[in-house]
Amino acid sequence: MKKILITGGLGFIGSHTTIKLLAKNYDIVLLDNLSNSRIEMIKKISLLAKKDFKFFNGDIRDRSFLRKIFLKNKIDSVIHFAGLKQVSHSMKYPLEYFENNVTGSINLFQEMSLAGVKSIIFSSSASVYGDTKLVRCTENAPLKPVSVYGKTKLIVENILRDIYSSDPNWKIINLRYFNPIGA
Ligand code: NAD
Repeated sequence: MKKILITGGLGFIGSHTTIKLLAKNYDIVLLDNLSNSRIEMIKKISLLAKKDFKFFNGDIRDRSFLRKIFLKNKIDSVIHFAGLKQVSHSMKYPLEYFENNVTGSINLFQEMSLAGVKSIIFSSSASVYGDTKLVRCTENAPLKPVSVYGKTKLIVENILRDIYSSDPNWKIINLRYFNPIGA
């Protein structure tokens, strides 16, 4: 079965995604720096999925950490959730957001490239549309992020677009969701 690296895998969406993928028998490798999650999540995910997975505690801004993961594991594709996500916080601490979300993502893509891993789903956000007045927002709606958070997401989307232009062997999905919690 395919081996998937999930960045930010102990977080809210990453942990749910992991449980679903384990149920489908994917081989899962998680990484997380625990900046917005707890180590106990490992046990909880295993308990719910009734399966184990590998976990690496570290940061996507650390290239040597990423390199070790790709060397030790034959990763087929990546789902990239790791990042900071608070809109108001991003306006107060823009550099923190650009460093974590943009620099961290560039590191990840560079290490993927070195390892020959060219398949990724990037967890973008509907915040790339900004304050749209459209009632139905389609993928073709103008991209005008207002917050620093939204800007970091659009920058990473554009980086991925350029990576694809340079090498169409890459398989890339920019997933822009609104709020993942249903009523
Ligand atoms: P979350 O904070 O629960 O999960 C993110 C995880 O990434 C956390 O466990 C955190 O510890 C980890 N992390 C953060 N920076 C890291 C780094 N530099 N290195 C390694 N790990 C790091 O957030 P979430 O709600 O699960 O969202 C996941 C992704 O989806 C984020 O990128 C977020 O921007 C995006 N998103 C979320 C929503 C939402 O409503 N929750 C909506 C749209 C997009």
